[in-house]
Amino acid sequence: MAAYEYETHEYDVVVVGAGGAGLRATLGMAEQGLRTACITKVFPTRSHTVAAQGGIAASLGNMGPDHWQWHMYDTVKGSDWLGDTDAMEYLAREAPKAVYELEHYGVPFSRTEKGRIYQRPFGGHTTEFGEGPPVQRTCAAADRTGHAILHTLYGQSLKQKAEFFIEYFAIDLIMSEDGVCQGVVAWKLDDGTIHVFAAKMTVLATGGYGRAYFSATSAHTCTGDGGGMVARAGLPLQDMEFVQFHPTGIYGAGCLITEGARGEGGYLTNSEGERFMERYAPTYKDLASRDVVSRCMTIEIREGRGVGPNKDHIHLNLSHLPPEVLAERLPGISESAKIFAGVDVTREPIPVLPTVHYNMGGIPTNYWGEVLDPTPDHPDRVAPGLMAVGEAGCASVHGANRLGSNSLIDLVVFGRAAAIRAKDVVDPKTAVPAPNKASIDSALGRFDGLRHAKGSVPTADLRLEMQKTMQADAAVFRTSKSLSEGCANMARVAAKMDDIKVTDRSLIWNSDLMETLELTNLMPNALATVVSAEARKESRGAHAHEDYPDRNDETWRKHTLSWVEGPSVRLAYRPVKLEPLTSPDEGGIDPKKIAPKARVY
Ligand SMILES: Cc1cc2nc3c(=O)[nH]c(=O)nc-3n(C[C@H](O)[C@H](O)[C@H](O)COP(=O)(O)OP(=O)(O)OC[C@H]3O[C@@H](n4cnc5c(N)ncnc54)[C@H](O)[C@@H]3O)c2cc1C
Repeated sequence: MAAYEYETHEYDVVVVGAGGAGLRATLGMAEQGLRTACITKVFPTRSHTVAAQGGIAASLGNMGPDHWQWHMYDTVKGSDWLGDTDAMEYLAREAPKAVYELEHYGVPFSRTEKGRIYQRPFGGHTTEFGEGPPVQRTCAAADRTGHAILHTLYGQSLKQKAEFFIEYFAIDLIMSEDGVCQGVVAWKLDDGTIHVFAAKMTVLATGGYGRAYFSATSAHTCTGDGGGMVARAGLPLQDMEFVQFHPTGIYGAGCLITEGARGEGGYLTNSEGERFMERYAPTYKDLASRDVVSRCMTIEIREGRGVGPNKDHIHLNLSHLPPEVLAERLPGISESAKIFAGVDVTREPIPVLPTVHYNMGGIPTNYWGEVLDPTPDHPDRVAPGLMAVGEAGCASVHGANRLGSNSLIDLVVFGRAAAIRAKDVVDPKTAVPAPNKASIDSALGRFDGLRHAKGSVPTADLRLEMQKTMQADAAVFRTSKSLSEGCANMARVAAKMDDIKVTDRSLIWNSDLMETLELTNLMPNALATVVSAEARKESRGAHAHEDYPDRNDETWRKHTLSWVEGPSVRLAYRPVKLEPLTSPDEGGIDPKKIAPKARVY
């Protein structure tokens, strides 16, 4: 191996990722005087969070009655009873505080007549523990909410003197002999230098892995790098079988049309012009939860009622809405529909198709963001020195299915929680421990091996093969046959990593090498997804198994853990947390309200 020199930086905390989760954690850490570095492979405001359109859920009650317990109930039901009750309570209770903080930091929310934060309806968000009408709970800055949040948090983090390392690619975690995370090794993309970030606490906020699939709404940078690093460190991933398909990706392009479009009154139709959601979800119709709507659309297409020459997609209608509403509330999606589908939304329907959108699974954590390294006897054992927040993590608040607008709130609530926890576990007065040299060498050895890889399969070809395999074998509807084929196919695809071909050997702006590193991260995420899905013999949330169409709480109300090594995956399970944080006497939810029942919308 070529010898690599590196520069060592010492911090109390290093945050990897500058999306909503990474920035909220960075800001919180810096605010309390911890020396904090945030490293990111793209400029902070280009993180995928910038694309979030619809909004952020919190029971502010600005548009009508709402309660945090109703939000908690909806989240429990949305998760199809797989979320951890303590984390879901924490999310729903802390949400209003976290949103008001964003407001005070300067997020330019849309306003009501009275000057309050504007809130819109979103799928699965209801009143009266699912008995009442839909609620307007999703706080929005027009259809650019993520953009507004990201810019505000970046500005505030700079104000607090957090230090940013922009266009640095984190290669691997540095782990001590006894399993403590001691920081990360990173490659500076624009000058080719290598950097060791030694820290008392490392926070992974690297986002999702949507790009493991062929058609995804997420940015090309969403390659599950945090999950890849964790898998290589010998730690497990959790609930990876649960992949959310958003009902309304633009047909062909895959770009997202926010659920806010249906929240503002848009509806879906089939080739007969029928508003078919009324048949499947009589109460909440087009605003049933995402897994339900995606499945109904897929059934319509499979039964021959799709639109277009190949009858392979569905129409989203907005043209009945007043043009002022479209211009004021949905300007961004009107533009996307024009650019990517050539459609004028004031006149024509948008062609849409369920598209991979969100990963419920990820790096297991408790509700403080601390990463778990579970054993059969200690399912909540913490991996010291390591946290994960945002889409990379799995707290788990989304369980088997995430509700729309519950991710942005997850980013800020748990980014903030990680900072609150760090105050207790990170001592700014102690010295930063010297990072383990063997672990640094092993990261650089892997990097060098890929840089000089002389196999026969170009990275882009192998990535495409993986994406097509995942799309074919682990999509909206799954069968025993498709999943067992998926496992075999993915093992075959992953084994080709040994024959990967990198053509550019330079260290400066080497996108070939960067994409290869990303592929080494996508691969374990994809493998864990299909193997976990094959093993789960029930249907729950986003995991719709045709051979096991019912949810089976007795056997399967448990989290899947997956350890990935090369092309092989080992599974184990850990219990779902059933206890809320507070009892009804302390103002908590009545446990009877959140007992499992059939999920009907
Ligand atoms: C089109 C779209 C619209 C959405 N709309 C909504 C919505 O309206 N409401 C809602 O609640 N949710 C929405 N979601 C989901 C939500 O936006 C995402 O789940 C969330 O933004 C993820 O944020 P994050 O901070 O976890 O990660 P990201 O925003 O994806 O950021 C990841 C960060 O990690 C960095 N990074 C990754 N790997 C490395 C590495 N190896 N080295 C260094 N840095 C690295 C990146 O540079 C980036 O800064 C939407 C998602 C999409 C795709």
